[in-house]
Amino acid sequence: MLVLLFPELYKEGEDVTKLVSMCKLKGGRLVREVSDSCLQFWGGMGFTKEVIVSRFYRDMRLVSIGGGADEVMLSIICKYLGILPKLGKKKH
Ligand SMILES: Cc1cc2nc3c(=O)[nH]c(=O)nc-3n(C[C@H](O)[C@H](O)[C@H](O)COP(=O)(O)OP(=O)(O)OC[C@H]3O[C@@H](n4cnc5c(N)ncnc54)[C@H](O)[C@@H]3O)c2cc1C
Repeated sequence: MLVLLFPELYKEGEDVTKLVSMCKLKGGRLVREVSDSCLQFWGGMGFTKEVIVSRFYRDMRLVSIGGGADEVMLSIICKYLGILPKLGKKKH
């Protein structure tokens, strides 16, 4: 439901980067879980090109890579929350 608020908040000039990053991270992980369960349901048949579920399984994997990988989303979220570890200088 929160996702529907983003355009409104954005139009009002709010910085929605943190929320959008959270949404992309969650969406990518969720769609991986869902497509994995669907493939499992189909068994060996799910692995073949004859059913759309195998394409879904492969293509949906891109959500966690394209337009900023999950790790990049995590970095952005941590930065906004102020918990991104800083690279310290090495002590000799
Ligand atoms: C089918 C497809 C369509 C695409 N379409 C477009 C398009 O239309 N326009 C466009 O601009 N690009 C497009 N891309 C490129 C896509 O955006 C990049 O693949 C994506 O940004 C990841 O970059 P990369 O492949 O260079 O992986 P890399 O940057 O090499 O990342 C590899 C892995 O390293 C890790 N990693 C990367 N950066 C960090 C970090 N900062 N911190 C921690 N870990 C990190 C992650 O685990 C990541 O998965 C497309 C890619 C594919 C496969």
